[in-house]
Amino acid sequence: MSARILVVDDIEANVRLLQAKLEAEYYEVFSAPDGPTALVLAVSEKPDIVVLDVMMPLMDGFTVCRRLKENPETRHIPVVLLTALDGRVDRVAGLEAGADEFLTKPIDDMMLFARVRSLTRLKSVIDELREREASGRRMGVIAGVASRLDGSGGRILIVDDNERQAQRVSSELSLSHRPVVETRPDTALIAARGPVDLVIVNAAARSFDGLRFAAQVRSDEATRSLPILAIVDFDERPRLVKALEIGVNDVLPRPIDPQELSARVKTQIRRKRYTDYLRDNLDQSLELAVTDQLTGLHNRRYMESQLDALVRRAVVGGGDPVALLVIDIDHFKQVNDSFGHGVGDEVLREFAVRLASNVRAIDLAVRFGGEEFVVVMPETELAHAHRIAERIRRQVAGSPFRVLGGEELLTVTISIGVAASLGEGDTPETLIRRADEAMYEAKDRGRNRVIAKAA
Ligand code: GH3
Ligand code: MG
Ligand code: MG
Repeated sequence: MSARILVVDDIEANVRLLQAKLEAEYYEVFSAPDGPTALVLAVSEKPDIVVLDVMMPLMDGFTVCRRLKENPETRHIPVVLLTALDGRVDRVAGLEAGADEFLTKPIDDMMLFARVRSLTRLKSVIDELREREASGRRMGVIAGVASRLDGSGGRILIVDDNERQAQRVSSELSLSHRPVVETRPDTALIAARGPVDLVIVNAAARSFDGLRFAAQVRSDEATRSLPILAIVDFDERPRLVKALEIGVNDVLPRPIDPQELSARVKTQIRRKRYTDYLRDNLDQSLELAVTDQLTGLHNRRYMESQLDALVRRAVVGGGDPVALLVIDIDHFKQVNDSFGHGVGDEVLREFAVRLASNVRAIDLAVRFGGEEFVVVMPETELAHAHRIAERIRRQVAGSPFRVLGGEELLTVTISIGVAASLGEGDTPETLIRRADEAMYEAKDRGRNRVIAKAA
């Protein structure tokens, strides 16, 4: 997977070296000589990753990082800080500033590529969610903004057979989170399916393979998006790289530094909250936005968001037309009047089931409003749509609807108008109008019938 990387360093030779390394791996690289320029470029160029030197005149890397993380337009971009070799203090300060990753100078190529790959993966997930959220906002179905997405109060599962180490990690984290310890991978895997925000696994466990456990968490449908932090011995570099390749989100070197532990955990929890927020918001609002609550069919708003493109493709593209049925239940008011609104609702639901099971998967079955329904059929000739409409009419009139738990049988009929898109100049509105007129003609001619409108 390729990515666009912004390298920020005041020393030009460093920039060129890093650029050469990354370009050899087919990343696209551009650079900034100082923090203020980097902040501008991050907004205008939208890089996938920012690699930042800590030591810079004008504005140091921590400040640049903090600014990037404060700006809603750039806060989702992963930041890698370049620190001095023994930069423990720098690492903690960087994590506090919201950095996603660290590399020590001189840069180890293997670590560089492993980090960049893992951050690229993460970024593409977040991008996908952000994009869908943005389209939700355009459709007007997402209004709220992310509430406080802080990195505390996380439910953390610690998987470690080294009980002393597990206890140390647990008590350190319990200051601002809710950690639990599992010493066996099988029980831990079950626990991970519960409400958990982060898994911390000891990759140097004696009685089980911590990386295998991490891989299992990644491949299980129920846990695959859970963040994982692996504890790895500081000098076991190949294992560290392996961990990132498996899809571990971050690694914590051993011996464990408590401040670094807290800072890395906080970063993971904050990011999890953000992706959860994007996902939940999206699922809920998209569901609400496209579905009719009573029948589970598509709603009118969804149909309108789709119909324009379908009609345009049929009219301009020169393929088969798009056909449309307008369906209205006959004398529906009498159902309500005789049996009550509840029974009316039951009829609507039962009708929706019959309708949906009589159209193809690519057709859109829509509750247009009240007791009026629409079916949109892409790539369908008028004559064919007419036959489908006739089949639906028979399915409805042919067997009575069971209501009130089967106590009552109602005969229901429908009137259907059919139209199909014509050549240039046809629009969703004119198409719907023709089908609607045909439907009214069916009512006029005695109901329980189908009328197709040729032109
Ligand atoms: P026609 O054959 O001319 O279509 O007669 P009709 O009675 O079906 O048409 P009319 O438009 O006079 O009445 C439609 C009724 O549908 C009135 C309205 O109360 C009822 N209705 C609309 N939405 C719902 C709903 O969600 N649930 C129930 N139970 N009734 C609804
Ligand atoms: Mg009606
Ligand atoms: Mg009506």
